[in-house]
Amino acid sequence: MSRLYWIETWGCQMNEHDSEKLAGTLEGLGYEPAPSLGASDVVLLNTCAIREKAEDKVYNLLAQLAPLKARRPGMVIGVCGCVAQMSGEGVRERAPLVDLVFGPRAASRLPELLARLQEEKGVVDTTLYQDSLVAGAKAVRESQRAKAWVTVMEGCNKTCTYCVVPATRGRESSRPLDDLLAEVQELAAAGYRELEFLGQNVNAYRCPGTKAGLADLLRAAGRVGGVRRLRFTTSHPLHLRSDIIRAMAEVPAVCDHLHLPVQSGSSKLLQSMRRGYDREKYLAKVGELRREVPGIALSTDVIVGFPGETEEDFQQTLSLVREVRFDQMFSFVFSARPGTVAALLADRTPLERKTERLIELQALQREIQLESNARQIGRVEEVLVESPSRRTAAEWAGRTTSNRVVNFHAPGARPGEFVMVRITAAGANSLRGVLAGEDAVEARPMPEARPA
Ligand code: SF4
Repeated sequence: MSRLYWIETWGCQMNEHDSEKLAGTLEGLGYEPAPSLGASDVVLLNTCAIREKAEDKVYNLLAQLAPLKARRPGMVIGVCGCVAQMSGEGVRERAPLVDLVFGPRAASRLPELLARLQEEKGVVDTTLYQDSLVAGAKAVRESQRAKAWVTVMEGCNKTCTYCVVPATRGRESSRPLDDLLAEVQELAAAGYRELEFLGQNVNAYRCPGTKAGLADLLRAAGRVGGVRRLRFTTSHPLHLRSDIIRAMAEVPAVCDHLHLPVQSGSSKLLQSMRRGYDREKYLAKVGELRREVPGIALSTDVIVGFPGETEEDFQQTLSLVREVRFDQMFSFVFSARPGTVAALLADRTPLERKTERLIELQALQREIQLESNARQIGRVEEVLVESPSRRTAAEWAGRTTSNRVVNFHAPGARPGEFVMVRITAAGANSLRGVLAGEDAVEARPMPEARPA
C-alpha cells in the first residue's frame, strides 16, 4: 500500500511553488497525495516567517496535531520553509512532536532527510546549499493548466533592515538561462499559457557566468511558441533597469502589470529600512515605467509603523500613494522579526496608533482602487480563466493582463482558456463582466466581497 503525504503551505508564491516541487519529490519516491491531513504518513508544513502572525499559525497547527501524532507515532511531521530555517532545532524544542526540520535551500535533499529519519530520531538541516536550484523533482502543478510558476533565482543579497529573507533563503543564486528556457518550452508544450518567473529579487536575475539578465530571459521566453503571458515577481526598484522596462514594452507576452514594493514614502524611513533608494528615485522609476509602458498597472507593498515613523513620515507615505495611485497594494503594520536590525531599533509608536495609520492608508487605497477599477467599465479585456468564482457559484474568475480579477458568466468555459470579457461593473478588489458580445445593462458598484 503506497504511503500518503500532505503539504500545508503559508506565505508567498515562492513557497507555494516550493510545495509543488516537494510534492513532486514525494511522488517520485512513490508517495501519493492524502485525502486529508489526518490520513497522511508524511505531513510537511511549509512555513513563512515574514511576520510574527505567520509563525504563530505554524505552532497552532502543530499543537492541534499532537493527539494525532500520539495515536500514530509512525507518522512523519516535518517543518520546512522560512520558520524552519530561522529556528532550526528550536522548532523541535518548541514542538517536540516534529521529526524533521529543513530550510528552503535543503528542500532538494528531502529524499536523504527522510532516509536519515529511519536511523536517527529527529533530523534538522538548515544548510543554505548553493546548488538548491538545480533542476530537481518535477513540480506537481495545479492540474487545470491555467498558469505555472518558474523559479529563476533564489535568495537575496540585499540587507533591508526589517527582512528575514536573506537569513532564511541565503545569498542570491540564479538558474542558467538554457535550463530555464527548457522548462519554459516544456510548460508551453504541456499547455500552460501563462508563466510567472519567481525570485525574492527577481530583477536581479543573472545567468551564471554570463551577462544575461531578466530582460534577456523575458525576450527569449517571449519567443517560445504557446507562451501567451509572462509575469515576474518580486522586483526591487533598484534592479528595475531600463533594459527590463524596454523588454516589458517590446515583448508582447510580458503582461502590463508590475509589483514594485515601495514600503514607505518617507526618504528618511527608506534609509532606515536600508532600501537603497529614496522617494524621488522611486517616483522617477515609476515615471520611466509609465512612459515606456503606457497604462501599466502597478501594485506595491507598504509597511506602516516602522520604528521611528513620525506623523510626518506617515503623511509622506500617504502623499506618495496619492501621487502614484497604485492599482493594488499589500499593506501591513511593522512586525519586528528576530535577528533583524530593525528589531533592535527604538520604537515608541503605540500599536494602536500604527493600526490607525494602517486603516487610514487602506481607506485611501480603497478609494484609489475603486477609481482605477471603475475606469475599466466598458472595456473589453482578454481574461485567462483560472477557477470558479469565489463570489457566485455559476461564475468563473480569471485575470486580465493587468492582473485585475474578473468574475464573469461563461457556461462551458474551462481553466486555461482565454475569453474576451466586457467589463460591466467594478469593486475595489475585482471586476465583473460578460462575455464580449453580450450587452450588460447596468454598471453599478459591486457589493463588497465577503472574506473567503
Ligand atoms: S529585497 Fe526583499 S527579500 Fe531582499 S532583503 Fe529586501 S525586502 Fe527582503
